Amino acid sequence: MKASQFFISTLKEAPADAEIVSHKLMMRAGLIKRLGAGIYNYMPMGLRVIRKVERIIREEMDRAGAIELLMPVVQPAELWQETGRWDKMGPELLRVKDRHERDFVIQPTSEEVITDIARQELRSYRQLPKNFYHIQTKFRDERRPRFGVMRGREFTMKDAYSFDRDVEGAKKSYEAMYAAYCRIFDRLGLTYRAVAADTGAIGGDLSHEFQVIADTGEDAIVYCPESDYAANIELAEAVALIAERAAASQALEKTPTPGKSTCAEVAELLGLPLARTVKSLVMATDEKNDAGEVVGTQVWLLLVRGDHDLNEIKAGKLDGLKNGFRFATEAEIVEHFGCKPGYLGPIGTRKPVKVVADRTVANMSDFVCGANEADFHYTGVNWGRDLPEPDLVADIRNVVEGDPSPDGKGRLAIQRGIEVGHVFYLGTKYSKAMNATYLDETGKPRLMEMGCYGIGVTRILGAAIEQNHDERGIIWPDAMAPFTVVICPIGYDRSEEVRAAADRLHGELQALGVDVMLDDRGERPGAMFADWELIGIPHRVVISDRGLKDGKVEYQGRRDAQATAVAAGEVVAWLQ
Ligand code: ATP
Ligand code: MG
Ligand code: MG
Ligand code: MG
Repeated sequence: MKASQFFISTLKEAPADAEIVSHKLMMRAGLIKRLGAGIYNYMPMGLRVIRKVERIIREEMDRAGAIELLMPVVQPAELWQETGRWDKMGPELLRVKDRHERDFVIQPTSEEVITDIARQELRSYRQLPKNFYHIQTKFRDERRPRFGVMRGREFTMKDAYSFDRDVEGAKKSYEAMYAAYCRIFDRLGLTYRAVAADTGAIGGDLSHEFQVIADTGEDAIVYCPESDYAANIELAEAVALIAERAAASQALEKTPTPGKSTCAEVAELLGLPLARTVKSLVMATDEKNDAGEVVGTQVWLLLVRGDHDLNEIKAGKLDGLKNGFRFATEAEIVEHFGCKPGYLGPIGTRKPVKVVADRTVANMSDFVCGANEADFHYTGVNWGRDLPEPDLVADIRNVVEGDPSPDGKGRLAIQRGIEVGHVFYLGTKYSKAMNATYLDETGKPRLMEMGCYGIGVTRILGAAIEQNHDERGIIWPDAMAPFTVVICPIGYDRSEEVRAAADRLHGELQALGVDVMLDDRGERPGAMFADWELIGIPHRVVISDRGLKDGKVEYQGRRDAQATAVAAGEVVAWLQ
């Protein structure tokens, strides 16, 4: 590819709304262009990266036995009503009507449609297992789209769905996807961690997230450097740190009705001392203007010490809760948390949390909740009045870093991460709701066991840049780079020799299948180098008259401090 025949558009300054480095660099390097909140044009340079990511994903999905198809972006509401997600999903689900006033959704994910396909097409046990995937545009009307492609509203996801005869088969499919994900993120050259995760709105009981480690990540991961324990903090708090997962859920099944169970009862069920029990309250404060009119509401998930009296809190008697707090209404809770109040399980947060827009708190309850393992959980927790900023990590770090890990093999550490992939074992949640059955060996209909597996294709670009950049720009891992090698001739427009050498090298590399760019724009060296460093091409060859005189060109890797002189005739071999 020659630069004059391609489209390059770099900026000196990032736009003001770009908060984190990947967003800034993607804008400056001309990879994306904003069209609206959370909606981006993928510009030619950015699209090349997306295609490379997609290609690796496809290769590994195919290798793992998954089969590609393509499901529509616009999907009839009926299917979503069948599973109940039409009601459950709230405003994140974008709904549209056609000219006949029929309801549709712009897909945020495709469980309904694939289950509809499966119930029609997969009729016999002989056709199972099957795993279907597609790479398709998604739309989620995120409460707070931000960070460019990292939390977009329109984005690209690879989503796969497995169908099995039984639980054992489904677990095998899950494991195959888990392994495929490891291969994908290894090949992409990312530093990541697979962590146990909450199953959220989708449900099921086996789930891992693939988190790219980065300080700007919105998720927090607790892990144990001495063992393979790693969990998303939501889950870690909800389950692992409370007690053994199984023991906890067993106990909690017996929990009395929401709102009626006393703290003492919960403590007894969990077999923990009362003082260790915590309760959560969903409270709201109204923001008023000078005239006293309500102009907005903030919803807070408050954790309350187990030995505090809820009635006192309700009556506003507890110190720190006097400041205009009231119980959140059901509508507010649904809007902020995406689920209805009511007892669902242990709560995972240890401190008052200002609800961060897009954070799903799946296990919500408005009254009773789980219990913590030891008393230290209350250290540094701020009750009510001066609610800390929603910097979950910093706060949790104070509380749990260095604590013993739940598997007893070491101490806990905390990192921030970006969720780039997610594997779920779904069980029969969707097959049951949509009656997706197959006939077993005896001719009896049985529900299919399902799993679903997502990768945020476009989010991966942001995550990779968060991990790989310097003050000059992006440093793409080779596998994702829009071009692997850039040839920068100095004096392409004036020197016959330089032009001939550059063209020859370009041709040779192309013939070898190397993704090579030849910068024939005739830019000054400084501006030319700055562009390619910003764009993040991992390998650069500079060809100049001065070098050619000694039969040399200059090679510089994007991370190298200095260029290396390489014999012109050996540069192809050098680059291999
Ligand atoms: P998050 O917790 O970041 O909101 P999620 O858990 O809602 O993500 P999943 O439903 O698990 O997302 O979707 C699968 C993958 O799609 C995620 O692991 C993530 O990589 C990607 N993804 C989800 N939401 C977005 C978004 N708004 N923009 C870009 N990628 C996204
Ligand atoms: Mg989400
Ligand atoms: Mg998530
Ligand atoms: Mg997820």
